[in-house]
Amino acid sequence: AVVVGRRVKSRRKWKKVGNVLKELEEGCDTSVGRLRQVVDAMAVEMHAGLASEGGSKLKMLLTYVDNLPNGCCFRNADRFVSSLSFQRTEKGPYYALHLGGTNFRVTRVHLSGQPSPVLEHEVERQPVPPHLMTSTSEDLFDFIASSLKEFIAKEGDGSNISQDRRELGFTFSFPMKQMSVSSGILIKWTKGFSIVDMVGRDVVACLQEAFVRKGLDVHVAALVNDTVGTLAVGHYHDPDTVAAIVIGTGTNACYLERIDAIIKCQGLLTTSGRMVVNMEWGNFWSSHLPRTPYDIELDAESPNPNDQGFEKMISGMYLGDVVRRVILRMSLESDMLFGPISTKLSTPFVLRTPLMAAMHEDDSPDLIEVARILNDTFEIPDVPLKARKIVVKVCDVVTRRAARLAAAGIVGILKKIGRDGSGGITGGRNRSDVKMKRTVVAIEGGLYSSYTLFREYLHEALNEILGEDIAKHVTLNVTEDGSGIGAALLAASYS
Ligand code: BGC
Repeated sequence: AVVVGRRVKSRRKWKKVGNVLKELEEGCDTSVGRLRQVVDAMAVEMHAGLASEGGSKLKMLLTYVDNLPNGCCFRNADRFVSSLSFQRTEKGPYYALHLGGTNFRVTRVHLSGQPSPVLEHEVERQPVPPHLMTSTSEDLFDFIASSLKEFIAKEGDGSNISQDRRELGFTFSFPMKQMSVSSGILIKWTKGFSIVDMVGRDVVACLQEAFVRKGLDVHVAALVNDTVGTLAVGHYHDPDTVAAIVIGTGTNACYLERIDAIIKCQGLLTTSGRMVVNMEWGNFWSSHLPRTPYDIELDAESPNPNDQGFEKMISGMYLGDVVRRVILRMSLESDMLFGPISTKLSTPFVLRTPLMAAMHEDDSPDLIEVARILNDTFEIPDVPLKARKIVVKVCDVVTRRAARLAAAGIVGILKKIGRDGSGGITGGRNRSDVKMKRTVVAIEGGLYSSYTLFREYLHEALNEILGEDIAKHVTLNVTEDGSGIGAALLAASYS
């Protein structure tokens, strides 16, 4: 009787865990119908954000980038090309600094050869020391300037530091209100950065001051968001590129907009009649987003509650923590799963997204990798196989939702610029009559480039929402280090 009693108890506990999983799946619903609602909401909010300042949670920020580098059609008379001297066979080097998430990068770009230029680059990456993310602006910018100084010093024997003035593009991946292509004030921090004295200050002025402190003669010719750098390099390689997405520690998108559609800035003139708009889509919100109690808790306990709602469902900084919260809830329901609750399991952000991805994609027999990661991360040994399988399922549900929402965001942009095949382009009556222009979206960030299942789910959702006939005209092009290289190209263009 005792054994039977234990079995019944055990079955009940597993059932509770099963219920938590079922609720999660329901809460994370991304049926194609719901995704289409998100698409429409994104397009509506884009219009609202362009219509007036503060008109939407989507800031739709001006970047003053009105022409994009064009590498393949180099003879096109756009501003980028005309800014390059054809007297010389080599142009540059141009430099870029990229501050935005987990890593800090310094890049050098050389352009050589004509009429088809060859683009070569070198990159050095290093983690941002965590204490600098919450320190003072002076500390942060001194670190950035010192890194550049060391990078330049390695170019020769070190005596070259005082050579001619160097031109640089600064990729600063946070929301900025730009006054020109080379100035902008920080609106707010995201992704765990919080340096209070920086908010409201001109980012370029801070950087130039740090260069002076470090004795560097470097001119910041372009200040760009990482999405804008990604778009620039994407367009350089493929002129059909009209938008760029970053899905890394944080997430965001930018795209090329007609100047007359930016109603909040009437009278703005550009030579091309267009301007890149930084959407800051991480802050997008809609009642159609599938939000669960885990998202609500995560938001409430985050350093920026009620902010960056879309980002918190999609990007690398948060996905692991959503999974941790579900596992914690399951453990509270049933100690069958993991035994007594460990302190680590209650600690925010201990489960980093790359580890979550490794569990999700574990193909070892009996999910040995999942057991190892659960032990290393949460200090819970010997997790039973049944529980490991549940953990993989939780990772799947959370990642699938993220990838499908990102796909809906992309289609929202395509809809806004009339590239979703919903009519109007050539006046076709049926979706299949519509002659779609080839449309390229540049994409960067570890979630897309290094997480196979995320990428597959995103493509699958694009096909479902657009239909295969339309989706086949849309290409996503991965750019590696594009945000930095693109900033250097823009520095070349605008210096
Ligand atoms: C920032 C954006 C950035 C994105 C990707 C977000 O948190 O607000 O400016 O583009 O992360 O790095």
